[in-house]
Amino acid sequence: MLLGAGELGKEVVIAFQRLGVEVIAVDRYHNAPGHQVAHHGFVMDMTDPDALLALILDQKPHYVVPEIEAIATSALEEAERRGITEVIPTARATALTMNREGIRRLADEQLGLPTSAYAFADSIEQLTEATRRIGFPCLVKPTMSSSGKGQSMLRGPEDIRSAWETAASGARVVGGRVIVEGFVDFDYEITLLTVRAVDPATGRLTTHFCAPIGHRQERGDYVESWQPQAMSPVAHGAAMSIAARIVTALGDGGLGGRGVFGVEMFVKGDDVYFSEVSPRPHDTGLVTLATQRLSEFEMHARAILGLPVDVTLASPGASAVIYGGRDEKAIAFENVAAALAVPETDIRLFGKPESYVRRRMGVVVATADDVVEARRRARDGAAAVRPVSTAPAVPGDRPAAPEPAPAVESTGPSTDRFRDRSVRPEPAGDGRSAVPADDAIADGSAPEADPPHTAVFDTAAAARDDDEAATDAARPDADTDPVAESTRADAERAETERTDTGRGVTVEK
Ligand code: AMP
Repeated sequence: MLLGAGELGKEVVIAFQRLGVEVIAVDRYHNAPGHQVAHHGFVMDMTDPDALLALILDQKPHYVVPEIEAIATSALEEAERRGITEVIPTARATALTMNREGIRRLADEQLGLPTSAYAFADSIEQLTEATRRIGFPCLVKPTMSSSGKGQSMLRGPEDIRSAWETAASGARVVGGRVIVEGFVDFDYEITLLTVRAVDPATGRLTTHFCAPIGHRQERGDYVESWQPQAMSPVAHGAAMSIAARIVTALGDGGLGGRGVFGVEMFVKGDDVYFSEVSPRPHDTGLVTLATQRLSEFEMHARAILGLPVDVTLASPGASAVIYGGRDEKAIAFENVAAALAVPETDIRLFGKPESYVRRRMGVVVATADDVVEARRRARDGAAAVRPVSTAPAVPGDRPAAPEPAPAVESTGPSTDRFRDRSVRPEPAGDGRSAVPADDAIADGSAPEADPPHTAVFDTAAAARDDDEAATDAARPDADTDPVAESTRADAERAETERTDTGRGVTVEK
Protein backbone atom coordinates (compact mmCIF):
# COMPACT_ATOMS: atom_id res chain seq x y z
CA MET A 1 0.00 0.00 0.00
CA LEU A 2 1.56 3.22 -1.23
CA LEU A 3 0.61 6.22 0.92
CA GLY A 4 1.01 9.03 -1.56
CA ALA A 5 0.53 8.45 -5.26
CA GLY A 6 2.34 11.36 -6.88
CA GLU A 7 5.01 11.08 -9.55
CA LEU A 8 7.49 9.32 -7.28
CA GLY A 9 4.84 6.94 -5.98
CA LYS A 10 3.76 6.20 -9.53
CA GLU A 11 7.24 5.02 -10.46
CA VAL A 12 7.38 2.86 -7.31
CA VAL A 13 4.02 1.33 -8.25
CA ILE A 14 5.33 0.51 -11.73
CA ALA A 15 8.46 -1.04 -10.24
CA PHE A 16 6.34 -3.27 -7.99
CA GLN A 17 4.02 -4.16 -10.86
CA ARG A 18 7.00 -5.39 -12.85
CA LEU A 19 7.80 -7.76 -10.00
CA GLY A 20 4.25 -9.09 -10.05
CA VAL A 21 3.19 -7.39 -6.84
CA GLU A 22 -0.37 -6.21 -6.27
CA VAL A 23 -0.45 -2.51 -5.35
CA ILE A 24 -2.94 -0.26 -3.61
CA ALA A 25 -2.34 3.47 -4.18
CA VAL A 26 -3.70 6.06 -1.75
CA ASP A 27 -3.79 9.81 -2.18
CA ARG A 28 -5.90 12.71 -1.07
CA TYR A 29 -7.24 13.52 -4.52
CA HIS A 30 -8.82 11.51 -7.23
CA ASN A 31 -6.86 10.18 -10.23
CA ALA A 32 -3.42 10.97 -8.79
CA PRO A 33 -0.51 9.73 -10.95
CA GLY A 34 -0.02 6.55 -8.92
CA HIS A 35 -3.73 5.76 -8.97
CA GLN A 36 -3.54 5.48 -12.73
CA VAL A 37 -1.19 2.49 -12.64
CA ALA A 38 -2.11 0.67 -9.41
CA HIS A 39 -4.45 -2.29 -9.05
CA HIS A 40 -6.58 -0.47 -6.50
CA GLY A 41 -6.91 3.17 -5.54
CA PHE A 42 -8.23 5.02 -2.52
CA VAL A 43 -8.84 8.70 -1.96
CA MET A 44 -8.64 9.83 1.63
CA ASP A 45 -7.12 12.30 4.07
CA MET A 46 -4.01 10.46 5.26
CA THR A 47 -3.54 12.90 8.13
CA ASP A 48 -6.65 11.42 9.76
CA PRO A 49 -5.23 8.67 12.01
CA ASP A 50 -8.54 6.81 12.48
CA ALA A 51 -9.33 6.72 8.78
CA LEU A 52 -5.79 5.63 7.92
CA LEU A 53 -5.72 2.86 10.49
CA ALA A 54 -9.17 1.70 9.35
CA LEU A 55 -7.96 1.46 5.76
CA ILE A 56 -4.88 -0.52 6.75
CA LEU A 57 -6.99 -2.85 8.89
CA ASP A 58 -9.44 -3.30 6.04
CA GLN A 59 -6.89 -3.93 3.30
CA LYS A 60 -4.22 -5.71 5.35
CA PRO A 61 -1.34 -4.97 2.98
CA HIS A 62 1.93 -6.81 3.52
CA TYR A 63 3.77 -3.50 3.34
CA VAL A 64 2.79 0.11 3.91
CA VAL A 65 5.11 2.36 1.91
CA PRO A 66 4.79 6.07 2.77
CA GLU A 67 5.64 8.26 -0.20
CA ILE A 68 4.79 11.64 1.31
CA GLU A 69 5.39 13.30 4.66
CA ALA A 70 1.86 14.47 5.54
CA ILE A 71 0.71 11.23 7.12
CA ALA A 72 -0.75 10.45 10.55
CA THR A 73 2.29 8.50 11.70
CA SER A 74 0.50 7.45 14.91
CA ALA A 75 -1.64 5.15 12.74
CA LEU A 76 1.51 3.64 11.23
CA GLU A 77 3.00 3.10 14.68
CA GLU A 78 -0.20 1.42 15.82
CA ALA A 79 -0.38 -0.83 12.74
CA GLU A 80 3.28 -1.79 13.16
CA ARG A 81 2.93 -2.41 16.91
CA ARG A 82 -0.05 -4.68 16.34
CA GLY A 83 1.85 -6.61 13.67
CA ILE A 84 -0.78 -5.85 11.03
CA THR A 85 1.71 -4.77 8.41
CA GLU A 86 5.32 -3.73 7.91
CA VAL A 87 5.92 0.00 7.56
CA ILE A 88 8.76 1.02 5.22
CA PRO A 89 11.37 1.76 6.37
CA THR A 90 9.87 1.81 9.90
CA ALA A 91 7.05 3.77 11.53
CA ARG A 92 9.60 5.51 13.75
CA ALA A 93 11.69 6.63 10.76
CA THR A 94 8.57 7.97 9.06
CA ALA A 95 7.64 9.97 12.17
CA LEU A 96 11.16 11.28 12.81
CA THR A 97 11.77 12.47 9.26
CA MET A 98 8.45 14.29 8.84
CA ASN A 99 9.52 16.67 11.59
CA ARG A 100 12.67 18.74 11.15
CA GLU A 101 13.13 18.77 14.90
CA GLY A 102 13.12 14.99 15.23
CA ILE A 103 15.67 14.38 12.52
CA ARG A 104 17.88 17.32 13.51
CA ARG A 105 18.08 16.19 17.12
CA LEU A 106 18.85 12.62 16.02
CA ALA A 107 21.55 13.81 13.62
CA ASP A 108 23.21 16.29 15.95
CA GLU A 109 22.52 15.27 19.53
CA GLN A 110 22.63 11.48 19.12
CA LEU A 111 24.88 10.89 16.14
CA GLY A 112 27.10 13.97 16.28
CA LEU A 113 26.82 14.61 12.54
CA PRO A 114 27.97 18.00 11.25
CA THR A 115 24.96 20.26 10.57
CA SER A 116 24.35 23.99 10.25
CA ALA A 117 23.97 25.86 13.57
CA TYR A 118 20.31 25.71 14.61
CA ALA A 119 17.74 26.63 17.25
CA PHE A 120 13.98 26.16 17.67
CA ALA A 121 11.38 28.84 18.39
CA ASP A 122 7.67 28.75 19.30
CA SER A 123 6.97 32.49 19.18
CA ILE A 124 8.24 35.59 17.47
CA GLU A 125 10.04 36.57 20.69
CA GLN A 126 11.85 33.25 20.80
CA LEU A 127 12.62 33.59 17.11
CA THR A 128 14.19 37.01 17.73
CA GLU A 129 16.31 35.56 20.50
CA ALA A 130 17.29 32.55 18.35
CA THR A 131 18.48 34.75 15.49
CA ARG A 132 20.74 36.57 17.97
CA ARG A 133 22.42 33.29 18.82
CA ILE A 134 22.60 31.92 15.24
CA GLY A 135 23.43 35.23 13.51
CA PHE A 136 22.58 36.48 10.03
CA PRO A 137 22.09 35.37 7.35
CA CYS A 138 19.95 32.49 8.53
CA LEU A 139 16.96 30.46 7.37
CA VAL A 140 13.66 30.00 9.14
CA LYS A 141 11.56 26.92 8.31
CA PRO A 142 8.47 25.39 9.90
CA THR A 143 9.49 22.18 11.65
CA MET A 144 6.52 20.50 9.98
CA SER A 145 6.49 21.36 6.29
CA SER A 146 7.57 19.92 3.00
CA SER A 147 10.79 20.98 1.32
CA GLY A 148 10.94 24.72 0.77
CA LYS A 149 7.41 25.42 2.03
CA GLY A 150 7.11 28.33 4.47
CA GLN A 151 10.87 28.87 4.34
CA SER A 152 12.62 32.27 4.31
CA MET A 153 16.12 33.61 4.30
CA LEU A 154 16.74 36.36 6.87
CA ARG A 155 19.42 38.95 6.20
CA GLY A 156 18.81 41.04 9.31
CA PRO A 157 16.43 41.65 12.23
CA GLU A 158 14.05 43.50 9.90
CA ASP A 159 13.18 40.15 8.24
CA ILE A 160 12.09 38.38 11.43
CA ARG A 161 8.40 39.28 11.38
CA SER A 162 7.77 38.36 7.75
CA ALA A 163 9.74 35.12 8.22
CA TRP A 164 7.51 34.19 11.16
CA GLU A 165 4.39 34.88 9.09
CA THR A 166 5.71 32.98 6.08
CA ALA A 167 6.49 29.99 8.29
CA ALA A 168 2.97 30.07 9.73
CA SER A 169 1.46 30.10 6.23
CA GLY A 170 3.61 27.21 4.95
CA ALA A 171 3.43 25.00 8.01
CA ARG A 172 1.49 21.78 8.20
CA VAL A 173 0.55 22.65 11.77
CA VAL A 174 -0.84 26.11 12.53
CA GLY A 175 1.13 27.94 15.24
CA GLY A 176 3.81 25.29 15.10
CA ARG A 177 7.49 25.52 15.86
CA VAL A 178 10.11 26.85 13.54
CA ILE A 179 13.75 25.94 13.16
CA VAL A 180 16.33 28.67 12.65
CA GLU A 181 19.30 27.43 10.65
CA GLY A 182 22.59 29.19 10.07
CA PHE A 183 23.10 29.78 6.35
CA VAL A 184 25.63 27.34 4.89
CA ASP A 185 27.51 29.03 2.08
CA PHE A 186 27.99 25.72 0.27
CA ASP A 187 29.84 25.10 -2.99
CA TYR A 188 27.19 22.58 -4.05
CA GLU A 189 24.50 20.39 -2.55
CA ILE A 190 23.97 16.69 -3.12
CA THR A 191 21.51 13.91 -2.60
CA LEU A 192 23.28 10.68 -1.78
CA LEU A 193 20.84 7.89 -2.54
CA THR A 194 21.58 5.28 0.07
CA VAL A 195 19.98 1.86 -0.07
CA ARG A 196 19.53 -0.56 2.80
CA ALA A 197 18.96 -4.00 1.31
CA VAL A 198 19.29 -7.63 2.32
CA ASP A 199 22.64 -9.13 1.40
CA PRO A 200 21.82 -12.55 -0.07
CA ALA A 201 25.11 -13.97 1.25
CA THR A 202 24.51 -13.12 4.90
CA GLY A 203 20.76 -12.45 5.12
CA ARG A 204 21.57 -9.18 6.85
CA LEU A 205 21.09 -5.60 5.76
CA THR A 206 23.91 -3.86 3.97
CA THR A 207 24.26 -0.25 2.87
CA HIS A 208 24.77 0.70 -0.77
CA PHE A 209 25.60 4.16 -2.11
CA CYS A 210 24.65 5.46 -5.52
CA ALA A 211 26.87 7.98 -7.27
CA PRO A 212 26.21 11.42 -5.74
CA ILE A 213 23.46 13.50 -7.36
CA GLY A 214 23.98 17.25 -7.68
CA HIS A 215 20.95 19.52 -7.88
CA ARG A 216 19.82 23.09 -8.17
CA GLN A 217 16.91 24.43 -6.14
CA GLU A 218 14.78 27.49 -6.73
CA ARG A 219 12.55 28.66 -3.88
CA GLY A 220 13.18 25.36 -2.14
CA ASP A 221 12.04 23.37 -5.16
CA TYR A 222 14.32 21.20 -7.27
CA VAL A 223 14.56 22.39 -10.87
CA GLU A 224 17.37 20.20 -12.22
CA SER A 225 19.57 17.38 -11.01
CA TRP A 226 22.54 15.49 -12.41
CA GLN A 227 24.57 12.41 -11.67
CA PRO A 228 27.39 11.97 -10.88
CA GLN A 229 28.28 15.13 -8.98
CA ALA A 230 32.07 15.35 -8.86
CA MET A 231 33.39 15.39 -5.28
CA SER A 232 36.82 15.31 -3.71
CA PRO A 233 37.64 11.86 -2.27
CA VAL A 234 37.62 13.36 1.24
CA ALA A 235 34.18 14.94 0.81
CA HIS A 236 32.82 11.80 -0.83
CA GLY A 237 34.07 9.67 2.06
CA ALA A 238 32.55 12.06 4.59
CA ALA A 239 29.23 12.05 2.75
CA MET A 240 29.07 8.25 2.72
CA SER A 241 29.94 8.10 6.39
CA ILE A 242 27.20 10.61 7.30
CA ALA A 243 24.65 8.79 5.13
CA ALA A 244 25.52 5.39 6.57
CA ARG A 245 25.16 6.63 10.12
CA ILE A 246 21.81 8.33 9.60
CA VAL A 247 20.14 5.50 7.65
CA THR A 248 21.41 2.89 10.10
CA ALA A 249 19.96 4.95 12.95
CA LEU A 250 16.60 4.99 11.18
CA GLY A 251 16.51 1.20 11.08
CA ASP A 252 15.59 -1.12 13.91
CA GLY A 253 18.82 -3.09 14.12
CA GLY A 254 17.21 -6.01 12.29
CA LEU A 255 15.66 -6.13 8.85
CA GLY A 256 13.45 -3.10 9.52
CA GLY A 257 14.75 -0.03 7.75
CA ARG A 258 15.01 -1.48 4.24
CA GLY A 259 14.66 0.73 1.22
CA VAL A 260 16.02 3.82 -0.49
CA PHE A 261 16.91 6.94 1.49
CA GLY A 262 17.69 10.33 -0.04
CA VAL A 263 20.35 11.90 2.17
CA GLU A 264 20.67 15.63 1.44
CA MET A 265 23.97 17.29 2.26
CA PHE A 266 25.76 20.61 1.68
CA VAL A 267 29.39 20.50 0.59
CA LYS A 268 31.99 23.22 1.02
CA GLY A 269 35.48 22.15 0.05
CA ASP A 270 36.09 18.94 1.93
CA ASP A 271 33.48 19.75 4.59
CA VAL A 272 30.10 18.04 4.40
CA TYR A 273 27.02 19.08 6.38
CA PHE A 274 24.00 16.87 6.88
CA SER A 275 20.78 18.68 5.91
CA GLU A 276 17.84 16.27 5.62
CA VAL A 277 16.92 12.70 4.81
CA SER A 278 13.88 11.27 3.03
CA PRO A 279 13.16 7.66 4.00
CA ARG A 280 12.04 7.01 0.42
CA PRO A 281 13.06 7.85 -3.16
CA HIS A 282 13.91 11.51 -3.61
CA ASP A 283 12.65 13.90 -6.28
CA THR A 284 16.19 14.79 -7.38
CA GLY A 285 16.69 11.03 -7.91
CA LEU A 286 14.31 11.07 -10.89
CA VAL A 287 17.57 11.37 -12.84
CA THR A 288 18.24 7.70 -12.07
CA LEU A 289 15.48 6.78 -14.53
CA ALA A 290 18.11 7.53 -17.17
CA THR A 291 21.43 7.08 -15.43
CA GLN A 292 21.35 3.89 -13.40
CA ARG A 293 20.93 0.26 -14.29
CA LEU A 294 18.14 0.25 -11.68
CA SER A 295 16.29 3.48 -10.96
CA GLU A 296 15.82 4.55 -7.35
CA PHE A 297 12.23 3.32 -7.66
CA GLU A 298 13.25 -0.15 -8.77
CA MET A 299 15.83 -0.30 -6.00
CA HIS A 300 13.20 0.74 -3.45
CA ALA A 301 10.83 -2.01 -4.60
CA ARG A 302 13.58 -4.61 -4.57
CA ALA A 303 14.91 -3.59 -1.16
CA ILE A 304 11.41 -3.65 0.36
CA LEU A 305 10.83 -7.15 -1.00
CA GLY A 306 14.16 -8.36 0.37
CA LEU A 307 15.66 -8.73 -3.10
CA PRO A 308 19.23 -7.77 -4.06
CA VAL A 309 19.90 -4.30 -5.47
CA ASP A 310 22.47 -2.93 -7.90
CA VAL A 311 23.61 0.70 -7.72
CA THR A 312 25.61 0.67 -10.96
CA LEU A 313 25.75 4.00 -12.78
CA ALA A 314 25.21 3.28 -16.47
CA SER A 315 25.85 6.78 -17.82
CA PRO A 316 26.26 10.38 -16.70
CA GLY A 317 22.90 12.10 -16.96
CA ALA A 318 20.58 14.86 -15.85
CA SER A 319 16.93 15.69 -15.22
CA ALA A 320 15.03 18.96 -15.70
CA VAL A 321 11.54 19.72 -14.41
CA ILE A 322 8.58 20.66 -16.59
CA TYR A 323 6.26 22.98 -14.65
CA GLY A 324 2.57 23.50 -15.35
CA GLY A 325 3.23 27.18 -16.10
CA ARG A 326 -0.50 27.89 -15.92
CA ASP A 327 -3.51 27.32 -13.73
CA GLU A 328 -5.78 24.96 -15.63
CA LYS A 329 -8.23 22.20 -14.85
CA ALA A 330 -6.63 20.08 -17.54
CA ILE A 331 -3.67 20.55 -19.81
CA ALA A 332 -2.00 18.91 -22.77
CA PHE A 333 1.64 19.10 -23.82
CA GLU A 334 2.96 20.36 -27.11
CA ASN A 335 6.36 20.06 -28.74
CA VAL A 336 7.11 16.73 -27.13
CA ALA A 337 8.66 15.62 -30.41
CA ALA A 338 11.06 18.55 -30.24
CA ALA A 339 12.06 17.55 -26.71
CA LEU A 340 12.62 13.95 -27.68
CA ALA A 341 14.58 15.00 -30.76
CA VAL A 342 17.29 16.25 -28.41
CA PRO A 343 19.74 13.31 -28.38
CA GLU A 344 19.47 10.72 -25.59
CA THR A 345 16.43 12.27 -23.91
CA ASP A 346 13.37 10.67 -22.42
CA ILE A 347 10.31 12.17 -20.81
CA ARG A 348 7.85 11.47 -18.03
CA LEU A 349 4.56 13.37 -18.07
CA PHE A 350 3.02 12.56 -14.75
CA GLY A 351 -0.66 12.75 -15.71
CA LYS A 352 -1.62 15.07 -12.87
CA PRO A 353 -5.23 15.97 -13.42
CA GLU A 354 -4.85 19.69 -12.74
CA SER A 355 -2.10 22.18 -13.51
CA TYR A 356 -0.76 25.10 -11.45
CA VAL A 357 1.95 27.54 -12.43
CA ARG A 358 4.53 26.00 -10.08
CA ARG A 359 3.22 22.44 -10.13
CA ARG A 360 5.68 19.82 -11.31
CA MET A 361 3.94 18.17 -14.25
CA GLY A 362 6.76 16.25 -15.85
CA VAL A 363 10.47 15.77 -16.20
CA VAL A 364 12.95 15.32 -19.04
CA VAL A 365 15.88 13.02 -18.36
CA ALA A 366 18.95 12.82 -20.57
CA THR A 367 22.24 11.01 -20.79
CA ALA A 368 25.51 12.12 -22.41
CA ASP A 369 29.23 11.47 -22.21
CA ASP A 370 29.49 14.04 -19.44
CA VAL A 371 27.24 15.81 -16.99
CA VAL A 372 27.63 19.25 -18.60
CA GLU A 373 26.22 18.01 -21.89
CA ALA A 374 23.54 15.92 -20.15
CA ARG A 375 22.35 19.00 -18.24
CA ARG A 376 22.16 20.99 -21.43
CA ARG A 377 20.14 18.26 -23.12
CA ALA A 378 17.71 17.85 -20.22
CA ARG A 379 17.20 21.62 -19.93
CA ASP A 380 16.68 22.01 -23.70
CA GLY A 381 14.24 19.13 -23.70
CA ALA A 382 12.22 20.47 -20.77
CA ALA A 383 12.20 23.99 -22.22
CA ALA A 384 10.82 22.68 -25.51
CA VAL A 385 7.72 21.11 -23.96
CA ARG A 386 4.86 23.53 -23.75
CA PRO A 387 1.84 22.92 -21.53
CA VAL A 388 -1.33 24.15 -23.25
CA SER A 389 -4.93 24.41 -22.22
CA THR A 390 -7.32 21.73 -23.34
CA ALA A 391 -10.25 24.06 -22.78
CA PRO A 392 -11.68 25.04 -26.18
CA ALA A 393 -12.11 28.78 -26.79
CA VAL A 394 -15.67 28.10 -28.01
CA PRO A 395 -17.53 24.99 -26.89
CA GLY A 396 -16.78 22.26 -29.39
CA ASP A 397 -13.64 23.96 -30.76
CA ARG A 398 -10.26 22.33 -30.74
CA PRO A 399 -7.54 23.92 -28.59
CA ALA A 400 -5.70 26.84 -30.16
CA ALA A 401 -2.98 26.05 -32.68
CA PRO A 402 0.46 25.77 -31.08
CA GLU A 403 3.04 28.50 -31.40
CA PRO A 404 6.29 27.69 -33.24
CA ALA A 405 8.62 25.43 -31.29
CA PRO A 406 11.37 27.13 -29.28
CA ALA A 407 14.85 26.99 -30.74
CA VAL A 408 15.74 23.38 -30.05
CA GLU A 409 17.49 21.09 -32.43
CA SER A 410 14.70 19.01 -33.89
CA THR A 411 14.23 16.58 -36.69
CA GLY A 412 10.63 15.84 -35.77
CA PRO A 413 7.45 17.66 -36.64
CA SER A 414 7.41 21.03 -34.86
CA THR A 415 3.68 20.91 -34.25
CA ASP A 416 3.62 17.55 -32.55
CA ARG A 417 0.89 17.38 -29.99
CA PHE A 418 0.89 14.92 -27.19
CA ARG A 419 -2.26 14.54 -25.25
CA ASP A 420 -2.05 13.27 -21.75
CA ARG A 421 -4.85 10.76 -21.97
CA SER A 422 -5.14 10.49 -18.25
CA VAL A 423 -6.30 14.08 -18.02
CA ARG A 424 -9.98 14.10 -17.34
CA PRO A 425 -11.74 17.11 -15.86
CA GLU A 426 -13.42 16.14 -12.64
CA PRO A 427 -17.20 15.88 -12.80
CA ALA A 428 -18.89 18.91 -11.29
CA GLY A 429 -20.49 18.41 -7.92
CA ASP A 430 -18.42 15.36 -7.02
CA GLY A 431 -17.04 15.76 -3.51
CA ARG A 432 -13.94 13.82 -4.45
CA SER A 433 -13.07 16.29 -7.16
CA ALA A 434 -11.97 18.91 -4.64
CA VAL A 435 -8.30 19.30 -5.44
CA PRO A 436 -6.42 21.47 -2.98
CA ALA A 437 -3.64 23.81 -4.09
CA ASP A 438 -0.48 21.99 -5.01
CA ASP A 439 1.51 23.23 -2.06
CA ALA A 440 -1.28 22.18 0.19
CA ILE A 441 -1.30 18.70 -1.30
CA ALA A 442 2.39 18.40 -0.69
CA ASP A 443 2.29 19.50 2.89
CA GLY A 444 -1.19 18.34 3.77
CA SER A 445 -2.34 21.74 4.96
CA ALA A 446 -5.28 22.09 2.60
CA PRO A 447 -8.67 22.51 4.17
CA GLU A 448 -11.07 19.69 3.51
CA ALA A 449 -13.65 20.67 0.95
CA ASP A 450 -15.99 18.02 2.24
CA PRO A 451 -16.09 15.84 5.31
CA PRO A 452 -13.19 13.40 5.04
CA HIS A 453 -14.13 10.12 3.54
CA THR A 454 -12.51 7.34 1.70
CA ALA A 455 -13.37 6.75 -1.90
CA VAL A 456 -12.33 3.66 -3.74
CA PHE A 457 -11.81 2.82 -7.33
CA ASP A 458 -10.48 -0.36 -8.62
CA THR A 459 -8.88 -1.14 -11.94
CA ALA A 460 -9.50 -4.86 -11.56
CA ALA A 461 -13.18 -4.17 -11.03
CA ALA A 462 -13.15 -1.78 -13.99
CA ALA A 463 -11.67 -4.45 -16.24
CA ARG A 464 -14.28 -6.91 -15.12
CA ASP A 465 -16.95 -4.33 -15.74
CA ASP A 466 -15.53 -3.86 -19.22
CA ASP A 467 -16.15 -7.53 -19.90
CA GLU A 468 -19.62 -7.32 -18.50
CA ALA A 469 -20.47 -4.09 -20.28
CA ALA A 470 -21.75 -5.88 -23.37
CA THR A 471 -24.48 -7.51 -21.38
CA ASP A 472 -24.92 -4.91 -18.69
CA ALA A 473 -26.01 -1.59 -20.11
CA ALA A 474 -26.72 -0.36 -16.62
CA ARG A 475 -23.04 0.54 -16.14
CA PRO A 476 -22.40 3.09 -18.84
CA ASP A 477 -19.10 4.34 -17.34
CA ALA A 478 -17.31 1.06 -17.48
CA ASP A 479 -16.43 0.96 -21.12
CA THR A 480 -15.22 4.53 -21.32
CA ASP A 481 -13.31 4.90 -18.08
CA PRO A 482 -10.27 2.69 -17.52
CA VAL A 483 -10.18 3.60 -13.84
CA ALA A 484 -13.85 3.34 -13.10
CA GLU A 485 -14.98 4.37 -9.69
CA SER A 486 -16.64 1.57 -7.89
CA THR A 487 -18.90 1.32 -4.97
CA ARG A 488 -18.10 -0.15 -1.60
CA ALA A 489 -19.61 -3.38 -2.94
CA ASP A 490 -16.98 -3.36 -5.66
CA ALA A 491 -14.33 -2.89 -3.01
CA GLU A 492 -15.56 -5.93 -1.18
CA ARG A 493 -15.55 -7.96 -4.37
CA ALA A 494 -12.02 -6.76 -5.05
CA GLU A 495 -10.98 -7.89 -1.59
CA THR A 496 -12.36 -11.31 -2.39
CA GLU A 497 -10.45 -11.32 -5.63
CA ARG A 498 -7.25 -10.47 -3.89
CA THR A 499 -7.72 -13.33 -1.53
CA ASP A 500 -8.37 -15.66 -4.45
CA THR A 501 -5.49 -14.60 -6.62
CA GLY A 502 -2.81 -14.19 -3.96
CA ARG A 503 -0.54 -11.23 -3.60
CA GLY A 504 2.36 -11.92 -5.90
CA VAL A 505 5.86 -12.04 -4.52
CA THR A 506 6.40 -13.60 -1.13
CA VAL A 507 9.56 -12.54 0.54
CA GLU A 508 11.60 -14.53 2.94
CA LYS A 509 13.22 -12.37 5.55
P1 AMP B 1 14.87 22.15 2.70
O1 AMP B 1 13.43 22.54 2.70
O2 AMP B 1 15.44 22.13 4.07
O3 AMP B 1 15.12 20.91 1.90
O4 AMP B 1 15.65 23.30 1.93
C1 AMP B 1 15.43 23.54 0.56
C2 AMP B 1 16.68 24.15 -0.04
O5 AMP B 1 17.00 25.38 0.62
C3 AMP B 1 17.92 23.31 0.14
O6 AMP B 1 18.00 22.30 -0.84
C4 AMP B 1 19.02 24.36 0.01
O7 AMP B 1 19.23 24.70 -1.34
C5 AMP B 1 18.42 25.55 0.73
N1 AMP B 1 18.80 25.52 2.15
C6 AMP B 1 18.09 24.95 3.16
N2 AMP B 1 18.73 25.09 4.35
C7 AMP B 1 19.86 25.77 4.10
C8 AMP B 1 20.94 26.23 4.92
N3 AMP B 1 20.97 26.04 6.24
N4 AMP B 1 21.95 26.89 4.31
C9 AMP B 1 21.92 27.12 2.98
N5 AMP B 1 20.94 26.71 2.16
C10 AMP B 1 19.91 26.05 2.70
